[in-house]
Amino acid sequence: MAKLVKEESDTGRLHIESPLMGESLVSKEFLKRTEAVDTFRMHPDINVIKIGGQSIIDRGRTAILPILDVLIQAKEKYKILLMTGGGTRARHVYSIGVDLGMPTGVLSKLGDKVSWQNAEMLSVLLSKHGGVKIGHGDNLEQLTMFCRQGYLPITYGIPPYGFFEHPAEIGSIPPHRTDCGAFLLAENIGARSLIFLKDEKGLFDRDPKKVEASKRDGLKFFGRISAKELLELDLDDLIVERPILTFLQRAKCLKELQIIDALHHPEHILAALEGKHVGTIIYKEE
Ligand code: ADP
Ligand code: MG
Repeated sequence: MAKLVKEESDTGRLHIESPLMGESLVSKEFLKRTEAVDTFRMHPDINVIKIGGQSIIDRGRTAILPILDVLIQAKEKYKILLMTGGGTRARHVYSIGVDLGMPTGVLSKLGDKVSWQNAEMLSVLLSKHGGVKIGHGDNLEQLTMFCRQGYLPITYGIPPYGFFEHPAEIGSIPPHRTDCGAFLLAENIGARSLIFLKDEKGLFDRDPKKVEASKRDGLKFFGRISAKELLELDLDDLIVERPILTFLQRAKCLKELQIIDALHHPEHILAALEGKHVGTIIYKEE
């Protein structure tokens, strides 16, 4: 533990003696010694569910309503935080922004409004069942309380980087969008599980939508794969945002995430919450 010490030269100045004193906090050797013995999990019963913007919400009522019915049922048994994707409107604003040469940080600020719109719509649809839209502030400490009271909290997926968004490795689209936001929040609250609701049964070696229907049987499906292996495969396209793979490798709390086809199988949401394997599980290699 830290303790107050007097400077040796007797100037009367006080220092706080601690293992971090005088360190730049950059040294790799030093940082190895800062691993928490046991990372505290704030909301260990909360399941973070991200509902896709393009893959689900943009498809309208026929896609969304059956999923909401399952979520209403599921919230009686499980504590859930729902997070929303952006989708086509976000892609449209990114394309105008890119055309105008907008920096990545500005594009990030534009995209978050769309995911916010989706959170707003879902909270309205769910309001009579306890749906409540929350921001990224103090409400996040209160998630378990919300769920205990019967609420279904909903927030937007874009992490609050804005002008602080990282430069993209390739191109200028913000690399941390709503899949990343869901991951980062789930990890930091110590969530029970992280489930992505999409429109494909999981990860293939190529985007199935770019393969002719008659040739889709030839695609390789990954039921379970580690983040490390997937990074090494270096596939051209993925069903989740790529930075998640690096995050998962470094995660302290989350051990895995599951991607499921909630469009054709809304009932898989309940199965995934029960811990069943119904899509692609990406896991952290220990
Ligand atoms: P969301 O709206 O949930 O963010 P996206 O449309 O951004 O979803 O991403 C999901 C889509 O990614 C799928 O609908 C699928 O067409 C596509 N995709 C790209 N690469 C792959 C892959 N390797 N395996 C499966 N789906 C892929
Ligand atoms: Mg996406």
